[in-house]
Amino acid sequence: MSTFMPRRRAGMLAGVIALQLLFGSLAAAQVTAIKAGRLLDPESGTIATNQVILVENGKFTAIGPDVPIPAGAELIDLSGLTVLPGLVDAHNHLALTYKEVPERNSYYLTSILDATPLRAIQAASNGIQMLAAGFTIVRDMGNSGNYADVALRQAIEQGWIPGPTIIPSGLIIGGLGGQFWPNPEMALDRRIVYPEYLEADTPDELVKAVRQNALFGARVIKICVDCKPWGYSTDEIRLVIREAAKAGLKVEGHVQTIDGGKRAVEAGIWSIAHDRGMTDELHKQMAIKGVWRAGTETPISLTGHTTRERYDQTVALLRNAWQNRTPLTFSTDADYFVPGRTRGEVAIEFIETWKAARIPDGDILRAMTINGYRVSETEQVRGPIKVGMFADLIAVPGNPLDGIDALRDVQFVLKNGMVFKRGGVMLPAAFFNGGPVSGWNAR
Ligand SMILES: [Zn+2]
Repeated sequence: MSTFMPRRRAGMLAGVIALQLLFGSLAAAQVTAIKAGRLLDPESGTIATNQVILVENGKFTAIGPDVPIPAGAELIDLSGLTVLPGLVDAHNHLALTYKEVPERNSYYLTSILDATPLRAIQAASNGIQMLAAGFTIVRDMGNSGNYADVALRQAIEQGWIPGPTIIPSGLIIGGLGGQFWPNPEMALDRRIVYPEYLEADTPDELVKAVRQNALFGARVIKICVDCKPWGYSTDEIRLVIREAAKAGLKVEGHVQTIDGGKRAVEAGIWSIAHDRGMTDELHKQMAIKGVWRAGTETPISLTGHTTRERYDQTVALLRNAWQNRTPLTFSTDADYFVPGRTRGEVAIEFIETWKAARIPDGDILRAMTINGYRVSETEQVRGPIKVGMFADLIAVPGNPLDGIDALRDVQFVLKNGMVFKRGGVMLPAAFFNGGPVSGWNAR
């Protein structure tokens, strides 16, 4: 293999470089200058006024109060708005919208009725809805049929459609049945759990499952730590972490019991999804070990998607995590349709839980931005509004530091230096291309 692959790769690379040179030279002349009335830095929680931001070839090239605007630059006047970095949802399911009737939150029927291509198209639509709400990065944490999440990432990266930067998990790795409880005929004879879950019950199967997801384009590995009473042991989780590290991937654990939470934290997992397995003691350990918390805190205002009892627990646990300085990310677990709302509007509604937990606006914003970049591992290339970074930003009329609800009114979205939304209206023409303008992307 090694004698053949480099030649094929070399040929492909040459083509990519030629395309990029051609494209780069055409685009080099075009500089975009953004006048930002207020430029918000979530890291410091400060605002600089009357800034000029220059964008060229999809990246920030200059930022400051006295930056001269080059002749011929396209001028975007956001002097009446607050400009800030894009938002991150650290746990969404763009390729899943379960059917309220008859299955509600079980989605077994959806996985049988809806083919992966259909779900991929839905994921594309949901991705656009997220971007319109200001989410420029989405970690897509499984339940994507047969790698619809990876397909979405590739389509966006190649420049076919607009969408957030996608961090896909590929198939969720779990024991036989995954999160479902299939009968023997369904699980063993029909293999009907596939492709919703990647079944792995032994160390060998775990290694193979991690390698499969890495091969097929996952950017993070997700395991179901305790979806069944037997679950994965601390050593098995460690094995997954080691194997994923060979591919440069981190591991997120779906955790729904306190015992599962203990095993995941003990194993040194990267991030934990959901808050059912969280305790004061675990929050303290996560703070010490730097384990990211993706609590998926469903607000009571999304009627029917949580209960009062569950919500009160969620609010108390989120507050406890914040008090313990547990690394917090903003995450939704959105996999349903709320009539009258886009997927992005459903996601932003989750700030209600954070407000109820009395978390300061600046800290909510940090969870939604810089912590999101870190858990997504994009912080060196994408996220912060800094020279050299990919040019993603959003703008709102209000000041999120004076009331996080300002984020409900995203008027402007820039992604990869291209305008996606302006004056509150989606104008995504620049994002539709018949070919791979950003180069063919290998998996
Ligand atoms: Zn989920």
